[in-house]
Amino acid sequence: SDHVLTYPESPDTMDWSPYYPSFTITNENESHEDTEISNIPHLSKRVEIADIGCGYGGLLFALAPRFPDQLLLGLEIRTSVTEFVQEKIKAMRQQNSETGLYQNVACLRANTMKFLPNFFYKAQLSKIFLCFPDPHFKARKHKARIVSSTLNSEYAYVMKPAGVIYTITDVEDLHNWMVEHFEAHPSFERISKTEEDVDVCVKIMKSETEEGKKVERNGGHKFVACFRRFEDPPWP
Ligand code: SAM
Repeated sequence: SDHVLTYPESPDTMDWSPYYPSFTITNENESHEDTEISNIPHLSKRVEIADIGCGYGGLLFALAPRFPDQLLLGLEIRTSVTEFVQEKIKAMRQQNSETGLYQNVACLRANTMKFLPNFFYKAQLSKIFLCFPDPHFKARKHKARIVSSTLNSEYAYVMKPAGVIYTITDVEDLHNWMVEHFEAHPSFERISKTEEDVDVCVKIMKSETEEGKKVERNGGHKFVACFRRFEDPPWP
């Protein structure tokens, strides 16, 4: 449960170096007023792609070689699943040591319903994936859904203007719920079907997620919806 989860106080205090060792830079020459922060190693770039509730990481492993210049992060609440993905990343890095592939992908244990802004700065992420989130069918469980007015405001906060939230599910009711909540949010607009169809990320999330494969095997339907983060309006 949450009390064993650790969170950085703010993105400034998050040490990403164990997650992305190849992107870590030494900062000996940097002077910083806050010594605690200055002791934290920096990365040459920030995480830009987040897979929320990444499960066994199928999407991450498919996306990582496609976006070699960006850092990808899977967030997963289950300890054993997180460890599985972390071990797999280690193995994939070793197997690909000559090309350096998979150095840009990591997995972290976290409850993404809490503390997302502790990990990410405002306007940091360019893509967020919400793939086959737990449906929480019963009305009294709807508050456990990872899409809600409150959580959408957190996604809006950590997302860059023009960044995209990708959603996919086989549960039509949840699909409608996600569309309804993102469309009602002032920071997001739904992307047209034409644009979805040419987006390689849509193709990958349909075919490479573990759940996507399962739905395929069972002949189920996959409902996709993507939403673009608006620019914030200028201050009057
Ligand atoms: N995205 C993967 C896929 O498409 O194959 C996994 C989908 S699985 C149905 C949902 C995942 O979300 C589970 O692995 C679950 O542990 C994780 N999850 C649920 N609530 C979460 C939360 N609050 N924070 C992080 N992960 C969560």
